[in-house]
Amino acid sequence: MEKTLLLTSGRCAWGECFACGWGRLIGPPPSMHRLKNILDEKFREFKKEKITGLKVFSSGSFLDDKQFPAAIRRYLVKKCIEHGIRKLTVESRPEFVTPERLADFSGINLTVAIGLEVADNELLKKYHKGFTIEDYIKAAEILHAEGCKLRTYLMVGLPFVENHAATVKKSVEFARKHSDSIVLINTFPHSAAPIFDMWISGKWKPLDRKQFNDIVRNYPDCEIEFDNFAFVPKFHKEKQEFIKGATEKQLLHPHFEVWQDYFVRFYDPPDGLDIALFIPCAFRKPYRNSRLHRAIFSMLEKMKIFRRLHVIVISSPGVIPYEFSNHYPFTSYDWPEWEETPEIKKRYIEVVQRRIENYLKAHGRHYKKIYSYLKPDSESYAALCNACKSLGIDIVNCLSDETYEKIKGEKNPLALKEALDDMKHVLEKG
Ligand code: SF4
Repeated sequence: MEKTLLLTSGRCAWGECFACGWGRLIGPPPSMHRLKNILDEKFREFKKEKITGLKVFSSGSFLDDKQFPAAIRRYLVKKCIEHGIRKLTVESRPEFVTPERLADFSGINLTVAIGLEVADNELLKKYHKGFTIEDYIKAAEILHAEGCKLRTYLMVGLPFVENHAATVKKSVEFARKHSDSIVLINTFPHSAAPIFDMWISGKWKPLDRKQFNDIVRNYPDCEIEFDNFAFVPKFHKEKQEFIKGATEKQLLHPHFEVWQDYFVRFYDPPDGLDIALFIPCAFRKPYRNSRLHRAIFSMLEKMKIFRRLHVIVISSPGVIPYEFSNHYPFTSYDWPEWEETPEIKKRYIEVVQRRIENYLKAHGRHYKKIYSYLKPDSESYAALCNACKSLGIDIVNCLSDETYEKIKGEKNPLALKEALDDMKHVLEKG
């Protein structure tokens, strides 16, 4: 069995790669005592299992003395040997691969993983990789001369690349000549890296699973990593803003567009929640604190169908699956209805319809039935109906026209008992 171990210490000596956020993190300075304690604790856990190989991820270079002193490298090797672990993989930039450092691993089968990313010096320069393919070749030669193996990471879907398939082909063919194993990794926008800003500004987009698979299926000898961490668009505090207003600028705000792209191409609706219920947003954020949403959920939670309901908000950001309602920017916007002009209402319907259509094209098959609980005269309801009509999807509104006629002059009519009773009745009828 092979295990992985995340061991961070200090900061990557380079820290400039365009898509890397980990390398920019300022870790605590290396302390022999702390690192030894972490290793001791991990190896105590390992005792219970029969482990033959260990991969150490270090967000930088395990061979960099500033991150990991030689004594720690030797201590890790000693622990591995004591536990019968014969294969060890560590990560490093090429400049730290020297015979002297590799000597610290004597007694174990060592593989060093190098993130080459792409076999093209022009692209490496644009990517701010800080080394060239010649540096990589030199490291490969030293590794092989010292009896070690080389594992090469290549990125698929990099920015600045015009033809991803051709670039990956060239990189794989190059890496095969020097590597013992290759991993093809999808380029994801880490929020601390400049690539995230490219996604926000619409200059680059990550490849979705199908686009990625269409390229990597040609390389059965390579390992594949589509998404190695639970990815959601995370905006760092300094990038967040309060998106207020009822104009085209707020409606098409790039932070909303990025999330809608995520919901369509990377998100999967939760298993088991196979009935969709579209509801309106609320002025108070997070929505769950509003009177309207408290009223809706206090009714829904008592119903048997609740276990299967996937509640989705429709608002100026577009489609918001409820489990994301606590995320920025859905907690940080305001669309003041009293500022709406007839033109912006029309645009709202067009834009939100497009976002709903995209969502339902991607996920419509997940739902056995689709309901809405929206004001029948609202722009959100018009957008939803238009989207469903254009896709040939049936939708049931849980609020009858008769009930709405009676209560529409009241404040917050959807929070009233008459309206909620309509919703309950329609959902229970099934
Ligand atoms: S990809 Fe590796 S070398 Fe580049 S900044 Fe990140 S940790 Fe450092």
